Amino acid sequence: MSDCLFCRIVAGEIPSTPVHETDRTLAFRDLDPKAPTHVLVVPKPHHADVAALSDADPALLADVMAAAVAVARAEGLGDGYRLVANTGADGGQTVHHVHVHVLGGRGLTWPPG
Ligand code: AMP
Ligand code: ZN
Repeated sequence: MSDCLFCRIVAGEIPSTPVHETDRTLAFRDLDPKAPTHVLVVPKPHHADVAALSDADPALLADVMAAAVAVARAEGLGDGYRLVANTGADGGQTVHHVHVHVLGGRGLTWPPG
């Protein structure tokens, strides 16, 4: 989708800071980090949100989660981290290409706001 921000990042049309890549996933640093480590993991094909991805290609959803774990390990988040997939309006999703946030590097409060 040419008008999708994360499709354009995957295509290399918009710059990012990649930290991990597989044949079907890409992980790059969030532009506006909410924690010392804040990385976004996306599937390369466009799916709007985690529900759409789960319906269309559950194996790819598993690949995204495995990539998120690999990122957390590579970033040295041995004391713990949080994986978040904001979904829909009430979930606070602003970019409608499914992504998993990998957040860590400090104690994270629960519940979130
Ligand atoms: P969400 O609110 O879950 O949809 O998260 C979207 C995330 O994308 C936010 O944390 C933004 O800071 C991040 N973001 C927006 N534009 C970019 C960009 N060009 N590169 C990296 N991260 C971005
Ligand atoms: Zn997209």
